[in-house]
Amino acid sequence: MNLKEIWQNALVFLERDLSKGVIATFFGPAELAGLEEGTARILCPNRLAQEQLRSRYSSQLTEALRAATGSDYQLSFEIKPLKTELPANSGSEIQPSLFHHSPPNGLAVSYSFENFVVGPSNQLAVSVAQAVTEQPGMLHNPFFIYSGVGLGKTHLLHAIGNHIKEKKPDAHVIYASAERFTTEFIRSIQNRQTAASFRRKFRSVDALLIDDVQFFASRTASQEEFFNTFNELYLAGKQIILAGDRHPAEFRNVEQRLVSRFAGGMITDIQEPDLDMRLQILRRKAAAQEAQVSEEVLLALAQQLEGSIRQLEGALHQLLAIARAQKAPPTAELLNAVIKTAGPVRPFVTPAEVIKSVCQAYQITAEQLCSARRSKEIVLPRQVAAYLLRYINKASLNQIGKLLGGKDHTTILYGLKKIDRQLAADEILRNQVESVRGEILGKNR
Ligand code: ADP
Ligand code: MG
Repeated sequence: MNLKEIWQNALVFLERDLSKGVIATFFGPAELAGLEEGTARILCPNRLAQEQLRSRYSSQLTEALRAATGSDYQLSFEIKPLKTELPANSGSEIQPSLFHHSPPNGLAVSYSFENFVVGPSNQLAVSVAQAVTEQPGMLHNPFFIYSGVGLGKTHLLHAIGNHIKEKKPDAHVIYASAERFTTEFIRSIQNRQTAASFRRKFRSVDALLIDDVQFFASRTASQEEFFNTFNELYLAGKQIILAGDRHPAEFRNVEQRLVSRFAGGMITDIQEPDLDMRLQILRRKAAAQEAQVSEEVLLALAQQLEGSIRQLEGALHQLLAIARAQKAPPTAELLNAVIKTAGPVRPFVTPAEVIKSVCQAYQITAEQLCSARRSKEIVLPRQVAAYLLRYINKASLNQIGKLLGGKDHTTILYGLKKIDRQLAADEILRNQVESVRGEILGKNR
């Protein structure tokens, strides 16, 4: 994917929140000129667009770029030079490798302790995180954080990494998701040199932050590589910090020996925030956007959305975007309208959306997916859909059977077992499923 395609994908994502007019005026004429060192360089057509993009749309753009690339970037807005061509090394000739290169240390500077609200649900995790930044490698090693989605694990990992670097700028810190680690590893083993540099990169750190460790596929070379990296760092007294969606003991794809390493240090979870904390978070997020929102409206929002903080943030964005588009203050009435009509506020992804995304990913129709056909091109997507309906929608076997065209629950169970085995053995499939999953959840954050 080149920069142009990334930008196009980001625009598609923005269309959910912003009016066509806003996109055509400010975003369409802008260009993505580079994604390097954790910074996205955006070329704006003029000073007005630069101002608007920077002051009003930064957070949406950051999210959209995250959706398009899977990484977080700081934004830098420049005015387009008068000549229309881009510098020789950018534009449509950008090699695909650019897209795959994460910023060198993977850290998103915008996630800090300062902008992380502490409350009863995450107090323990935050205090351990702070202790870890005080004395990396000494007190809690490894440090393992787990929680459901959208509750702040990723934010906290970056905050730890950033803080370690603030205190000791030459500390070598790397943040990567398990998926990224896997992809980089697979790419590296193509020749000896890249394999060696991969090893050097991950084994020379002072602190290693690995996110979403549930995505390590079992019995694979990449998990083996991570196991060895872990041991080497651990023995050298380097800090390892991990985040996952459940307690290590509940992993199915991660090997026992690695699970027991994970469990060898400090494990804390993050719970869902209570009302008071949700309200505090909304206040902070509104202030960060310099938006005036009354307490009444913030409270109404905090009362209506429980659970994921990402969802709460999304709803606030949506409200502010609509208020801006209508040039009206974000009132309680507007909030009600948003909650009634707007998609992203619903707390759950619907099964229909999951099915649609799977069909899109595999280029088949929903009728085919739900038909009785047993050809391989249909059976695999059907099993992937069953898998995602189970894990995203928490649908029962019977429900999944109904959703997939009236299949028997034993058929579904058989399919789920099969896909579990395949996922464990096949990294490519795993990455495929992960990207569909990311797409579905990304759309609904
Ligand atoms: P997870 O990794 O657990 O899915 P994230 O770290 O991505 O969750 O958090 C989702 C969003 O919610 C992010 O934008 C993050 O900044 C925000 N967030 C989560 N927890 C807090 C918090 N305690 N204070 C402020 N923002 C938070
Ligand atoms: Mg996360």
